[in-house]
Amino acid sequence: MNRPNILFIMSDDHAAHAMSCYGSRINRTPNLDRIADEGIRYDNCFCTNSICAPSRAAILTGVYNHLNGVKTLGDRFDGRQTTVSKLLQQEGYQTAIIGKWHLGHGGDSDPTGFDYWNVLPGQGDYYDPEFIEMGEQRRYEGYVTDIITDRSIEWIEGRDRTRPFFLMCHHKAPHRPWIPDQKHAHLYEDETIPEPPTFDDDYSGRAAAAEAAIMRIDRDLNKRDLKLDPPEGLTEKELKSWKYQRYIKDYLRCVASIDDNVGRLLDMLDEQGIADDTIVVYTSDQGFFLGDHGWFDKRFMYEESLRMPFIVRYPKEIRAGRVQEAMALNIDFAPTFLDYAGIPVPGSMQGKSLRLLMRSEVPDGWRTSMYYRYWMHLSEHGVYAHYGLRTHDYKLIYYYADALGATDAIDDPKTPEWELFDLRKDSSEMNNVYSDPAYADTVRQLTGELQLKQLEAEDTPYP
Ligand code: CA
Repeated sequence: MNRPNILFIMSDDHAAHAMSCYGSRINRTPNLDRIADEGIRYDNCFCTNSICAPSRAAILTGVYNHLNGVKTLGDRFDGRQTTVSKLLQQEGYQTAIIGKWHLGHGGDSDPTGFDYWNVLPGQGDYYDPEFIEMGEQRRYEGYVTDIITDRSIEWIEGRDRTRPFFLMCHHKAPHRPWIPDQKHAHLYEDETIPEPPTFDDDYSGRAAAAEAAIMRIDRDLNKRDLKLDPPEGLTEKELKSWKYQRYIKDYLRCVASIDDNVGRLLDMLDEQGIADDTIVVYTSDQGFFLGDHGWFDKRFMYEESLRMPFIVRYPKEIRAGRVQEAMALNIDFAPTFLDYAGIPVPGSMQGKSLRLLMRSEVPDGWRTSMYYRYWMHLSEHGVYAHYGLRTHDYKLIYYYADALGATDAIDDPKTPEWELFDLRKDSSEMNNVYSDPAYADTVRQLTGELQLKQLEAEDTPYP
């Protein structure tokens, strides 16, 4: 049986709109573009909860966070549950994870289903990072993105060539605090990166959650993020622009290093003569605000943080230059890999294999809407817990804040609120039309569909 290798490359907080294959206005990513040009680009791939650990748990298990137990950053992953790595390992794949894990350590939280694992403790460091290699601490000298790539290349080169492999190569970059490598430290130095169209959003016309969020470029970036004191005498507007340039340039420098290192991996596959036999995936655990709405960070169900970049190359089944508009979710990744490996997808997995979509065939009855839930009410960044529904044309969001019983922690408890965006007219989500009588029928219909999707996902409404 000729089963493909699977090289799954995932970065942390890399928004699709910072990749040139997704039409970035602010940077170029030639090596990532190679994957899209020689394979397929998904334009509607979404995470089910826009935050690190939960998205990682969803990818490993193929189920939503209320079922895999990692609803928040504080939840430890229970490695006794079914994961894609375990199933592939049981069926003869060589399996490894190298880089960011971020699902807890020790006991049942260490990586399971991997023949080899070498992961960063917690968030890990950009320079001279410590790793945990099969339970043993060790330190490497150098820059984290290079090191993760070096170890990945080493592991692939040293593999058993009689069996297929599954490697999860998980970068820390471009996660906060956005520390670039030496090679790219001066990139963009003499340029001004354009500000996004919603940079000066004043949050009017949205639920209170938008204004309450603590992730503003002008107010909430700290010295560690900016690395320099601002020049004196700037107006408020100038200072905000200065901060954005500091932030976005470092972010894009981290991305440039990832792009280089993805190029190294692709070259290695060519050198090894296994490019045709290897499925290469590039994605990120979720999206990110790149000054959009005046923000950095993620968490919201808004487009910039909901959307995941997802590009896949596999010459044997995917024709070059495809674009797929059908909806894909992070819980689909595990079933997809199992499908390619010829392993039955457990009925307990909620995601669906994307294999037919890779060939541009959309199966009958494929989803036309998706369910999302963010659980970390008023934790860091002050984002309200919410759940919602996205269809191709609309997005409905419910902030159930004061139903949570957590409101004694805030001075100013908010009542639950709804948002509806007409994405056909308002792709930037600046205008909440939930109370507009013209959308009354749409609200009724989407509310029903949200209930149905929530039930289907085996989640429960609040309160
Ligand atoms: Ca992340």
